[in-house]
Formats: sequence, structure tokens, C-alpha cells
Amino acid sequence: MKIDVLTIFPEMFAGPLDASLIGKAQKKGLVQIKIHDLRRWAENKYQSVDDRPFGGGPGMVMRPDVIDRAIKSLNLNRKSKVILLTPQGTVFNQKKAQKLSKEKHLIFICGHYEGVDERIREHLIDEEISIGDYVLTGGELPAMVVIDTVVRLIPNVVGKPESLEQESFTTNRLDHPQYTRPADYKGWQVPKVLLSGDHQQIAEWRKKQALKKTKARRPDLLLNNR
Ligand code: SAM
Repeated sequence: MKIDVLTIFPEMFAGPLDASLIGKAQKKGLVQIKIHDLRRWAENKYQSVDDRPFGGGPGMVMRPDVIDRAIKSLNLNRKSKVILLTPQGTVFNQKKAQKLSKEKHLIFICGHYEGVDERIREHLIDEEISIGDYVLTGGELPAMVVIDTVVRLIPNVVGKPESLEQESFTTNRLDHPQYTRPADYKGWQVPKVLLSGDHQQIAEWRKKQALKKTKARRPDLLLNNR
């Protein structure tokens, strides 16, 4: 998969995308992520990517011409998907991440200030994604959230595919509780069944616990056919 990110703060991406699984996935060539500074496509001497809103009001709006030139330079093809990060988009979830993980080329546009000129939504993008019902300063953190979630679903990024099958939201359950050594810490005991070596009983216990947790915390998941 190829991922291009258009942003006015390219320096924000270095840590989160270079470390851990996503960093390894890039090194192994499973994904190629390029971060582009939108100012490259600004044409005036101040390299402005934004301007005052027509009709008045506070703040600045990101210009359509700069973003259009940036997108055009990325050699899109029929398989490329241009995604705008915006609090007004469809709320992101695991199902959406699974769909995006099958794409060949994703382009993320990170807004800033008051957001982007409406003509960008109307003419230049395929999809609008929000990471939740709250407003961040810019689309950089949302882009990183979406990229991290999508890239770990690309085959061979996570070492053991079973880890992906069992985790929260992949089915309509939250994941079961996990325990590790020591088996007894300050008298806090690990459930005995997990030490029994009986794989069938362990599997049944985990299934029950996952259901119990889901009923208590996220009963809505049991109603959704996700
Ligand atoms: N005025 C806009 C509104 O109320 O819809 C909010 C602009 S916000 C301060 C600036 C940028 O941050 C947005 O253009 C978007 O790229 C990004 N952003 C903020 N919250 C977001 C969210 N929940 N999901 C995705 N992107 C978000």
C-alpha cells in the first residue's frame, strides 16, 4: 500500500509513524508512507496555504488551489482514494479500517485553522473521515490514528494474524481479559482456569468473559451487525 499525507506540519509525523509496528512495516516494504508539506504548492512569496473566509468571520480557511495542485502532483490512478480528515465526516471504526486496509493508494488531507474551503469537499475528495465527536486543532493526529489502525491490518504487519481476529471490534465483542506473570502478585490472583492447561476450558472462559465485558461496557455492540 502507498500512503501520501498532505499537511502543513510534516514534522508532527516522524515519531508515531517511525516507531513500533508501523515503522517496521515501512522498513519491510509492506507500506510506503510519504509526508508532503503543503507549502510546496503555495504560489505566493509568503507560501500561504490559507486565507480569510469570504463573508467574514474568525480564523483562516485552507485554499482549494493549493490542495488541488498538491493532489494532482501525486499521480493518482483509479485505485487512489483521497480522504479528508474532518469532524464533519463519517465516524471512523474498525470496519472502515478493514475496508481501507485493502486499498492500494490512500491520500490523507489534513485540515487546519477553521478547516478547508468547501470546494475541496465538493470536487477533490472521495471520502470524509472523523475520528470522533470532538474538534482537534488539525487533521494530523486524526490522520495518524487512521493510518496506524489501517496499516496494522495489512497482511504480515502484525506477526500473528490470530491477534487481529480476536481483538475488540473485529467481532461484535470486546476482547477478553488478559493476564501474565506473576500468577500471584500481592495476593492478586490470576483466574485458575488460565493456569489449568485445558485449552477448551480456557477458550470457553474467554468467550464468556468477553461477552460479560461487552454487555457491561458496550451493549450497543451486541445489537450492531458490525
Ligand atoms: N471549523 C471546523 C468545524 O467545526 O467543523 C473545525 C476545524 S478544526 C479546528 C481544524 C481541522 O482539524 C479540520 O479541518 C480537520 O482536518 C481536523 N479535525 C478536527 N477535529 C477532527 C476530527 N474529530 N476528526 C478528523 N479531523 C478533525
